[in-house]
This record gives sequence, structure tokens and C-alpha cells, in this order.
Amino acid sequence: FNTDRFGQHILKNPGVAQAIVDKANLKSTDLVLEVGPGTGNLTVRILDVCKKCTVVEMDPRMAAELTKRVQGRPVQRKLEITLGDFCKIPSLPYFDVCISNTPYQISSPLVFKLLSHRPLFRCAILMFQREFALRLLARPGSSLWCRLSANVQLYAKVDHIMKVSKGSFRPPPQVESSVVRIVPINPPPEIRFEEFDGLNRIVFSRRHKIVRSSFTASGVVEMLESNWKTFHSERERQPLDLSKPFTQRVEDILQASGYSDQRAAQMDITDLLQLLHCFHEEGIHFS
Ligand code: SAM
Repeated sequence: FNTDRFGQHILKNPGVAQAIVDKANLKSTDLVLEVGPGTGNLTVRILDVCKKCTVVEMDPRMAAELTKRVQGRPVQRKLEITLGDFCKIPSLPYFDVCISNTPYQISSPLVFKLLSHRPLFRCAILMFQREFALRLLARPGSSLWCRLSANVQLYAKVDHIMKVSKGSFRPPPQVESSVVRIVPINPPPEIRFEEFDGLNRIVFSRRHKIVRSSFTASGVVEMLESNWKTFHSERERQPLDLSKPFTQRVEDILQASGYSDQRAAQMDITDLLQLLHCFHEEGIHFS
């Protein structure tokens, strides 16, 4: 039985399983999405309180075990099992709440897939490797503030719910875990994720260096110049203003923005959005 391929560390501590479901504050009208139910230790508790639970499970043996577990019970009709890789399923059903303890390899795609889903869900209760959870929660200026923190906090409020020790799982994982609550900001900011992430990719690549120096990394200016030309050719009639070298153009924008000598590690979301806006004003895009 290969537990590594699917990251199958089953939550064996009933107190923790119940606490996770309790933290979701489920209502009897709620539609729940559970990613990676495994043998169903969270699922049976979710089914007790929700209207309907759709689970996405990649391992057919786990799905079979879960089916067996609810068979003949009244809650069986509330459960819908989708077999497949969560990261690859093309569309998610409507859901109010997401609950998940999935393998930590898919932490990042899971979060962004949830946050880009529409209509927005009410909240998600998710188990992550401690380090990942702390980066989701990190505040600007703290040692863990990074591209992930900024990207997630642009769209959601994240809270730490509880620590979960290795001993709560079978087999125990290598790392400590934490449960977090993610509440999407509604209505969501009207900024394209690819743009915000594109800027963050650059400025957080050297988070302790000044912003200006991050833009000198190889390929950055070339990429922005190519985006600038494409963007321009798609909407403007005027010829491109080539009176100054593109590097100078970028330099001038940074200077005028006031962020040239700042460090990404110190910039909050408002700063990052402001810097992005300065580039957009000049027709320069990051994706
Ligand atoms: N949620 C259960 C629990 O708490 O006991 C099982 C946890 S186990 C860490 C992760 C589960 O996610 C396994 O059942 C595994 O097969 C499933 N899984 C792994 N990768 C997946 C993916 N990409 N999409 C859907 N399910 C996945």
C-alpha cells in the first residue's frame, strides 16, 4: 500500500477531526466541497450537519472505502463522490464551504483554485503543513511575508485555527500541521491575479533587495518590453514612443512611484497595488 503517491496521512484523532468540522460552522442548508476525503474521517462528520457534500478523491481505493462507510446509512444520499485529481477537474460544483486535509504538495494549487472559483464560497477550513500555513498568515515586514502571503491576502482573510501534531495522523507525516480558515473578500478586488502575481514574482524574487534591483534580474525588462509592445499594438493607433530606451522607462516609473528604494519584504498589499498601478498607467503589464 503506497501511501506516498497520494500523500495519504489519515487523520486518526477524532477530537481534531470534529474540531475541524465544527470550525466550519456548517448550516443544514450548506453545500460542502471536500477535497481528498480519504477514508472519510472528516466526511462522516460533515454529512451529519450539511445538506450535501461533494468530495473529490483521486484514489479509487479510498473512494471505495468511503462508499462502503456510508452505505445503507441515511446520509448516503447526501454524498456525491467525484473521482479524479482536484487540480485537473475543469469545473467545481457550487459550494458554500470547503473543508480539506489534502496532501501538502497541492496546497498552493488548492488555495488558488478555490479563490478563483465563482461564485465565491463563504469560507474554507484547510489543513496545511505548518510552514505553509504561517506563510499564508504572514504580515508585511515579518520574516515570512512573501509572494504567497500577498497573493492570497489580496483576495482573502486568513486565520489560524489550530495546530495539529504529527501524532494525530496515521502514518505520521514528517512535518507539523496547522488548520487555517480562509474567508474570501467579497466582492473581490477587480485586479487580475496574473498581473498582481506577475509583479510579485519579480519583487519577491529578491525580497530583501530594493525593488529597483529586482527589475534588473535577467529577462525581466525584456519580458515587460514585449508585453508593452503587444499591449500597445492591440489597442493604440499612435506609434510607440521609442524616444527613450525601455530600461529607462522602467527606471522612471519606479522612481516616480516612490517604491524604487523600498524592499518587497516591507511592502504591504496597498503598496504593491500602487506600484502595479504605476506600471499599468504607462501601458506596462506583467502577464
Ligand atoms: N481527508 C482525509 C483525512 O483527513 O483523514 C485523508 C487525508 S490524506 C492526507 C489525503 C487524501 O487526498 C488521500 O485520500 C488522497 O488519495 C487524496 N488526494 C491526494 N491528491 C489528491 C488530488 N490531487 N485530488 C484529490 N484527492 C487527492
